[in-house]
Amino acid sequence: MGFIFRALAAGLYASLCAGFLALAPGPASAAPPGGASPWAAMAETARSDGAWPGAGHAPLPRPGQLRADQVAVKRSLLGFGWSLDASIGVAAAVPFRVFTLTEPPRIVVDLEGLGVSGFDPGKARLARGVTAVRAVPAPPGWARLVFELARPFALETAEMRAGELRLTLSRVGAEEFAARSGPPPGVVVGGQGPGETGQPLLIVIDPGHGGIDPGAFRDGVAEKDVVLAFSGELRAALAATGRFRVEMTRETDTFLPLADRATLARSLGARAFVSVHVNAIEDARARGGIVFTLSEGGSSSEARRRAAVENRADAAGGPFIPDAADPVGSALESVLRTEAQARSIELARALSDGLARVIGGGTQAPLQSANFQVLRVPDVPAALLELGFLSNAADRANLVSPEWRVRAARAIAAELVAWAQSGGPLTRK
Ligand SMILES: [Zn+2]
Repeated sequence: MGFIFRALAAGLYASLCAGFLALAPGPASAAPPGGASPWAAMAETARSDGAWPGAGHAPLPRPGQLRADQVAVKRSLLGFGWSLDASIGVAAAVPFRVFTLTEPPRIVVDLEGLGVSGFDPGKARLARGVTAVRAVPAPPGWARLVFELARPFALETAEMRAGELRLTLSRVGAEEFAARSGPPPGVVVGGQGPGETGQPLLIVIDPGHGGIDPGAFRDGVAEKDVVLAFSGELRAALAATGRFRVEMTRETDTFLPLADRATLARSLGARAFVSVHVNAIEDARARGGIVFTLSEGGSSSEARRRAAVENRADAAGGPFIPDAADPVGSALESVLRTEAQARSIELARALSDGLARVIGGGTQAPLQSANFQVLRVPDVPAALLELGFLSNAADRANLVSPEWRVRAARAIAAELVAWAQSGGPLTRK
């Protein structure tokens, strides 16, 4: 019954438990009837011991991507019947968990701290009996692979060695498979997206600035007010599609540090984070929207200038607090390595397409990138949407018009529906 886990090093076992506990804080007695899961036992051990390092903290992302060409499944005839031997190459030993699900039969493999950017299922070597492998939405900080099985194969062993997670499975009847399947307690298993599960996707909208920080200001119009109004309208437009659930980082005229905005999106497990801003420059002729994603260097000197302006927002809130205290993790590099970065660009494209439809005058909303502190959100696709220029009379007239803002919000919401349907928040094919 259940799974057999063999960890070569005690350290790995400990980190496996810590990773699990971080996601499943419920009591050990929450195990399903039958008690087939080893997770309850592990949780109990950890709790009586009381001191797994890292338990209760969100794990920080580690560099590394899962690659489909490192995934191989072999089938062999052993003793009493068919068995499967699956190998998943990893750069280093990481916490993991494996379980099977029924209807249809699947193996779910979660690996902590890895990304699935560029995971190309066509490159995996699969044996007969495994119809497909896919990278699917995972809890923040985890990569999740799902192997579709043509027939029930129950998990016998799962072992992490340096450079490889190895699974063995044996062919069993449907009844036994069902008895041995199911997620560990506390682990959320979604479907493949909003289309299949009917679960709305959570989007966190971040109206820029607020409180003592007005942002850009022209002709009596403050950025903080325009973006708050638009964010409310975007929330309504997204909710009206039935495909999204929306949380906002602020709903009133209050100051919020940049890092808190990103942290909220991450802690809520958002599937997208959109920070809303407007621009203002000396040249009153410049108009139109811009959509930014995070990058280290910046796509242009103007993009770098915009990031520098926005990153100063925290200065309005008092003394500068060094990055080291940032619970999201200050290493920009680690953010850029996650698969969320690839998805961020798709998100930005959807925002840009929606906005371009309502700007008028043939003006586009180009994609740019720069080092925006507010976009440092590991695991969550994130983009900064600049609706237009307060310094341009035509744009300013649009921005203060509730009618224009609602049209823009609806156009963007429609593009985000298409983005979600195309697998935007999921792994890119
Ligand atoms: Zn701004």
